[in-house]
Amino acid sequence: MLGQMMHMPLTIGSMIDHSTRFHSQGEVVSVETTGGIEYTTWGQIGANAHRLASALRGLGLEQGARCGTIAWNNRRHLEIYYGVSSGGFVCHTINPRMGAEQMVYVINHAEDQVLFVDATFVPAAAKLAPALKHCKHIVLMGPRDEAAAEMIPGLKFFDELLETGDASEPWPDLDENSASSLCYTSGTTGDPKGVLYSHRSTVLHTLAGNQPDGIAISAMDTVMPVVPMFHVNAWGVPYIAAATGCKLVLPGPNLDGKSLVKLIDETETTLALGVPTIWMGLLAALKETGSKVPSLTRTVVGGSALPPSMIPKFAEYGVDLVHAWGMTETSPLGSMNQLLQRHTKLSAQEQAEIRLGQGRPPYGVDLRVVDEDGTTLVNDGKAQGDLQVRGPWIVDTYFGKDAPALTADGWFDTGDVATIDGEGFMIIRDRSKDIIKSGGEWISTVTLENIAIAHPAVANAAAIAALHPKWDERPVLVVIKAGEVTEEELLNFYKGKVESWQIPDRAIFVDELPIGSTGKVQKNKLREEFGNVLLNDN
Ligand code: ADP
Repeated sequence: MLGQMMHMPLTIGSMIDHSTRFHSQGEVVSVETTGGIEYTTWGQIGANAHRLASALRGLGLEQGARCGTIAWNNRRHLEIYYGVSSGGFVCHTINPRMGAEQMVYVINHAEDQVLFVDATFVPAAAKLAPALKHCKHIVLMGPRDEAAAEMIPGLKFFDELLETGDASEPWPDLDENSASSLCYTSGTTGDPKGVLYSHRSTVLHTLAGNQPDGIAISAMDTVMPVVPMFHVNAWGVPYIAAATGCKLVLPGPNLDGKSLVKLIDETETTLALGVPTIWMGLLAALKETGSKVPSLTRTVVGGSALPPSMIPKFAEYGVDLVHAWGMTETSPLGSMNQLLQRHTKLSAQEQAEIRLGQGRPPYGVDLRVVDEDGTTLVNDGKAQGDLQVRGPWIVDTYFGKDAPALTADGWFDTGDVATIDGEGFMIIRDRSKDIIKSGGEWISTVTLENIAIAHPAVANAAAIAALHPKWDERPVLVVIKAGEVTEEELLNFYKGKVESWQIPDRAIFVDELPIGSTGKVQKNKLREEFGNVLLNDN
């Protein structure tokens, strides 16, 4: 061979060490569970991460041991992200909104040996503790707290644990393919499934996700991941932030619109990331408080479909909304919607329409749509089929399962139904479980919902498939009102906007929609409740 380059393993430890060396004064702002704000730096985060890894080794933890977290976005959580993974252990972030039974399931399934909990979750952890089969240490993420110590026998305290560690201890040599972190899918049907990320997959996701057509964070940015660190690693932002040395703002437990506006203004946040419900809250608070969030230039939205009205609403504040698609199984970044140069000639409205789609995959993600037989469909923006994906940060085998979760030819089936156009712009039309099959034709629930939400008297709406004696399934709309509207008026509103056979058969008004642990409407619950409403009518 005529020449070779160095082999440096792609590890999470190398990212935080880079930050410690070259961005040591870069700021990290953390809203604490107590409500106070802590100011720290990448240098201190890195030193504490080394201390934590050393302390965990001191507790006798062996490489690969899983450490769970039940915590908000704050600086100790960040130190755990880096200290646990770089120390050779696996950081298992647990969604506290899961409900006690599922939490016990995932903690036992992951065989977590250590459980880090924020003060908020001490009472919950005290209840779970007797059912946890492998947990040796529960650690409160804070200083000593006698009241908490009384609730959990043997409780340890993060700040004291850190003191037992040595900040100068180097990371162990790790294979880049070793496991770094673990995240369970929300498990709306059946038990949650664990996705085990590797150091390599995380570093590649960081590099690819932060390209100019991706999240595009620079050292000039102040970045606030409102998306929780227990929700697919806050979409990878904690890693991208360390690699770039940007200022990072961790918003803690208060994610209501008003708290976020205040924090954005105080910290001069330039980029914030979160699910649509978060941005609905923020927009309402902007109206109420009169703040113009002058520092904010971009928000990234994903996790569920972007309501069409959101782009122009943010534009009023000079904020660009970037739509992203992904899932736990894709680390999560699968596609992001940035325009092409030729789109700049289009009107604002035409541009907004393109930006409503889920966008294009970065290098490293390969997408295709297939029909029911698994035949790959043409990328013409019209052929609609099951969205499949492959790449170095896409799941192969769920944690603890024997067989890969892939098609025979090595693709992961997302469960989404999509189209892809000739330039790679992908649009999610529905979830395959949610799409309505009426007399052999498909009706997109997303399309029906977007029309309903555009009605001024509608606050939120979900379209579901209801069983029908003649057509198998027909659309039914479940609606929260924001003003006065009758069922007939709302159904008339669809005329001319979709084909007549796509108009819902019924609109049912409710006070609230069931929301799951990652902030999405649980349509399976709605189908259970309203799936038979058309059977009695016919
Ligand atoms: P996350 O909630 O982080 O997206 P999950 O694994 O809980 O991860 O859910 C993934 C699913 O969420 C996707 O398969 C898709 O159905 C839906 N989803 C995610 N992002 C979008 C988006 N931008 N538009 C429409 N649906 C989305």
